[in-house]
Amino acid sequence: MKMPVNPRFHPASAPDYLPRGQRQLLQWQRLQGMVQRAYDHVSLFRERMQGLGMTPQDVRSLEDVPKLPCMLKKDLLEHYPYGLFASPMKDIVRLHASTGTTGKPIVVAYTQEDLQVWANVMVRSFSACGLHAGDIIQNAYGYGMFTGGLGAHYGAEALGATVIPISGGNTQRQLMVMKDFGATAICCTPSYFLHLIEQAPELGFNLRDLPLRTGVFGAEPWTEAMRQRIEAESGIKAYDIYGLSEIIGPGVAMECRCQAGAHIFEDWFYPEIIDLKTGQPLPDGEEGELVLTTLGKQAMPMIRYRTRDITALTSEPCECGRTLRRIQRIGRRSDDMFIIRGVNVYPSQIETALLRVEGTLPHYQIILTREKGLDEVEVQVEVTREVFGDTVGALQQVQRQLGKSIETLTGLRFKTRLVQPQTIQRSEGKAKRVVDRRQM
Ligand SMILES: [Zn+2]
Repeated sequence: MKMPVNPRFHPASAPDYLPRGQRQLLQWQRLQGMVQRAYDHVSLFRERMQGLGMTPQDVRSLEDVPKLPCMLKKDLLEHYPYGLFASPMKDIVRLHASTGTTGKPIVVAYTQEDLQVWANVMVRSFSACGLHAGDIIQNAYGYGMFTGGLGAHYGAEALGATVIPISGGNTQRQLMVMKDFGATAICCTPSYFLHLIEQAPELGFNLRDLPLRTGVFGAEPWTEAMRQRIEAESGIKAYDIYGLSEIIGPGVAMECRCQAGAHIFEDWFYPEIIDLKTGQPLPDGEEGELVLTTLGKQAMPMIRYRTRDITALTSEPCECGRTLRRIQRIGRRSDDMFIIRGVNVYPSQIETALLRVEGTLPHYQIILTREKGLDEVEVQVEVTREVFGDTVGALQQVQRQLGKSIETLTGLRFKTRLVQPQTIQRSEGKAKRVVDRRQM
């Protein structure tokens, strides 16, 4: 009997469908090697283990993971550039670095084997959202030290797709190439794609006439409301990819076609959710900070790395058949949070609030100032030309609705300022949502 062949199924995706018990066995085998490796070669980890009176032999099952010491971004900064490497330089074939906001960046390293794992999880990511050999993927993530560009690039090649290594920026050329080369998918930040949507008609392109059907968007938090806006305005399907350089780069988790949370590639990245305040592990379904342990990283093992990303894990079965748990969409990073009048506020709450109001555009900035010792927030939002060109009444109505919508979501009243389209600076990479002008 002939077996049905699903042309969309890539063999690299097989581990996505492993029974849970088998996956846990695999995780356990890999974890033991990882803990031993970090203990033998990373002095920071060994010292912390010794401080807790632990050796790798004290880790007897996956349930012992929460006993292990955590690693923080601060550790990477303090051991800049090579202090956390577990491989000799002769085995390290690639370095990447994050763009540090202040001072030195963080540096991450890969052996040949690490690069293979990275390409593997990127193939599985592309496959999860329906891309396959024959697709033409325009890779508009920045190439260079940032992991987005090369991560997506080698993943797309390993998938068997055609990759256009255009990198970020130069909007006119992006649109020309997209049309002439017949790109079927694009990889970039969601905010840059919004910029393409906005520029297309002005530069004489209609995205709906192009073969483009899939967007793989990541590298910054974005909301469900933003996804709906992108899909409605461009006619493509927008998928969320999650990753971070410290762990591997993009490809830690990816949404499938059900668009109901990102499947985490648990056979390589062991996830936990912990309580932000107490650090205690939380059960599936509860929201807290995502902590990840790499299960195969040779050059730079990360044991219980605190991502600062806030999410929840779900083990509910997904319609796609993958048995990998999913993380809820990450709209919040504990790093992005700002505190106003004692209340924690996240940019994603403002984004959701403003996208609920008709007449607004998904371009906004949150300005924090301090006047006479009091923190003030002004949310600047672009509105459509129709609203802006209309009577004063239309503007006032949008402003009222916006204020109400923000108050509903945050419990606070913020100053709002409606501005003309194209006023807020566009980003070709990660969008800058919060401008903090308070004196420190
Ligand atoms: Zn799924």
